[in-house]
Amino acid sequence: MIFDKVIIATGGSPDKESFSWLEKLNHKIEEPVPSLFTFNMPEEPITDLMGVVVENVILGIPGTQLKSNEPLLITHWGMSGPAVLKLSSFGARVLSEKGYDFKIQVNWVNEQNTGLVREELLFVSDEHSNKLLSNFRPYALPNRLWSYLLEKSELHESKKWKELGKKGLNKLVNILTNDVYSVKGKTTFKEEFVTCGGVSLDSINFDTMESKVCKNLYFAGEVLDIDGITGGYNLQAAWTTGYIAGKLK
Ligand SMILES: Cc1cc2nc3c(=O)[nH]c(=O)nc-3n(C[C@H](O)[C@H](O)[C@H](O)COP(=O)(O)OP(=O)(O)OC[C@H]3O[C@@H](n4cnc5c(N)ncnc54)[C@H](O)[C@@H]3O)c2cc1C
Repeated sequence: MIFDKVIIATGGSPDKESFSWLEKLNHKIEEPVPSLFTFNMPEEPITDLMGVVVENVILGIPGTQLKSNEPLLITHWGMSGPAVLKLSSFGARVLSEKGYDFKIQVNWVNEQNTGLVREELLFVSDEHSNKLLSNFRPYALPNRLWSYLLEKSELHESKKWKELGKKGLNKLVNILTNDVYSVKGKTTFKEEFVTCGGVSLDSINFDTMESKVCKNLYFAGEVLDIDGITGGYNLQAAWTTGYIAGKLK
């Protein structure tokens, strides 16, 4: 069959081979890699805290500018939740290059100014000086997480706040603001996956979604090098580009 105009809306794929027919038509293809995944941490005992949610953490990847600031969920395989999914989306390409073997930094208290965290802990140790470390959780951290962080910092739960000392204070500031974990591998979030990469936007005329290198050929949706973070951005991109392409100008 012969058509005057054709719209390609075949969706994403992390397999570059599936774009070869479009490459043969002279379209530039950005290396496709998966986006929106959760982090596997097979070597980290924090997975014992599965089900714990921390409302707002700052999650970062050392040595990069990649950061997210969202709720975090600890799972039986590692970490998930919006903070992780967003970071996986921002870092889809970098993390693929690292072979999904990298470190993450967790700031459990959503405060990058370590001076302010120190002040808060000094205030707590003044106000609650006779309470056990286990009996007062700063920043209303979840109970199980607080116990875990104390143990990781080698601070005994039966210690009183007034017995924390300078060394103990430094350890707490450090673990609350710069807690480092090893990620080894990724897991698809439910059945959801999105592809980062695909037909380069350089090959497309955005006013019409027509190919710049192949007349009367149009593109819409995830086949393009557009990927968004969670919350409907991918669907919106597919609908918007589909609407523009559908006008067939
Ligand atoms: C389980 C899941 C949940 C998701 N949840 C969200 C969400 O909450 N929010 C959000 O924004 N995004 C979400 N996404 C991503 C979003 O669904 C996609 O970005 C969006 O559907 C892309 O639309 P599309 O039309 O480009 O491709 P698709 O929806 O993938 O459709 C492509 C279609 O083309 C067909 N096709 C492929 N190759 C050929 C061929 N050669 N010939 C004929 N047909 C072909 C496929 O079978 C498919 O039916 C989710 C994705 C999944 C998998």
